[in-house]
Amino acid sequence: MKRTEAFDFYQPATLQEASQLLKDNGPGGRFLAGGTDLVIAMKEKGLLPKYIVDLKRVPGLSGIRENSDGSIAIGALTTLYTIETSALIKKKYPFLAQSAAEVGSIQIRNRATIGGNISNASPSADTSPALVALGVTATIASASGERKIPVEEFFKGPGQSVMNADEILTEITIPKTAANLVGEYIKFSPREMMDLAYVGVAAVYNLAADKKCTGVRIVLGAVAPTPIRAKRAEAVLEGQILSEALAEKAGQTAAEEAKPISDVRSSADYRRAMVGTMTKRALLNAATGPAKSWYDRRDRRY
Ligand SMILES: Cc1cc2nc3c(=O)[nH]c(=O)nc-3n(C[C@H](O)[C@H](O)[C@H](O)COP(=O)(O)OP(=O)(O)OC[C@H]3O[C@@H](n4cnc5c(N)ncnc54)[C@H](O)[C@@H]3O)c2cc1C
Repeated sequence: MKRTEAFDFYQPATLQEASQLLKDNGPGGRFLAGGTDLVIAMKEKGLLPKYIVDLKRVPGLSGIRENSDGSIAIGALTTLYTIETSALIKKKYPFLAQSAAEVGSIQIRNRATIGGNISNASPSADTSPALVALGVTATIASASGERKIPVEEFFKGPGQSVMNADEILTEITIPKTAANLVGEYIKFSPREMMDLAYVGVAAVYNLAADKKCTGVRIVLGAVAPTPIRAKRAEAVLEGQILSEALAEKAGQTAAEEAKPISDVRSSADYRRAMVGTMTKRALLNAATGPAKSWYDRRDRRY
C-alpha cells in the first residue's frame, strides 16, 4: 500500500460542525466513518482528499432502536458486526443480518459501518439490496437542515448518490412491516469469502397461511449501475400462491430485467443466468428457510 499525500484531519463533535467544515473548506473533502472503503481508495486507488472529516466523535450516530410506531432506526455509524449480531435484527429481519454478515471479514465488519456501505454507493454493496427491499428511508443532514429519502432513490450510479458533499447520512429507518414478512438475501461470489458480490439478490414478501404472496420486492445487486428492483418479476408472484414453477418464472423475468456488465469477475451472460437461479432460490428460501442456515454457512467465513 502506498503512503498518501498529507491532508488536514478534523474531528468535529457535532453534526452541524461536521457539515460546516465541508462547506467552509470547499471541494476535496471527505467524511470518514470506518475507513474500509476510504482508506483503500486513498492508498490503492489514488484518491487524494484535501482534508478528512472524521464522524466518529459525533454523538448519536450509532446504535439500533425500535420506535414506538414499530419502525426500526439504525444509526449510520453502526458497524456491520453490530447489525449481524443484533438480536432484534436477527429476529425480525434475518436476511438483513445475513447481508451484513456477508461483507468481507470479521475485522472489516468490526470497522465498516452501514452508512459507509450505502454512502460509498457501490453497485455490489451487500446491504443495499435488502435495505431497498425493506423500503428503508435514509435521513440525510447538513448544516442547513435534514431531509429524508427512500434508499431506493438514493443511488445514482457507481460511487454516486443523491447526497451533496456537505451532507451526512445520519440514520436509516426500516418501516413497520407485516408480521408475516419473510425474506432472503443471497450473495453469489465463487470465492465464498473476502470477495465482492458477482450478483446479490434480496427477496421479501408477506406470506399468508395459504402461501399467497403479497408486497413482493425483489432487488438485484451488482448487475446494474445501482441496486435495482426487478418489478416485472415481482408482478409474477404478487397475489399468487408460491410454487416452484412460479419462482422459476419470476427468476427468468428478473434475469431479463438485469443489466449486467462483463468485467474481471464475470461475463454479463453468466451474471444474468445467475440472477435467474438465485432469484428463484431466494424466493423459495424465504418461505422455508435455506437448507443450511446462514449462521452455519458463515462458519466457513472469516
Ligand atoms: C478487504 C475488504 C473486503 C470488503 N468486502 C466487502 C464485501 O464483501 N461486501 C461489501 O458490500 N463491501 C465490502 N467491502 C467494502 C466496505 O467494507 C464497505 O463498503 C463498508 O461498509 C464501508 O463502510 P465504512 O464505514 O468503512 O466507510 P468509509 O470507508 O469510512 O466511507 C466510505 C465512503 O462513504 C462516505 N461516508 C461514510 N459514512 C458516511 C456518512 N455517514 N455520511 C456521508 N458519507 C459517508 C465516505 O466519505 C466515503 O466516501 C470490503 C472492504 C475491504 C477493505
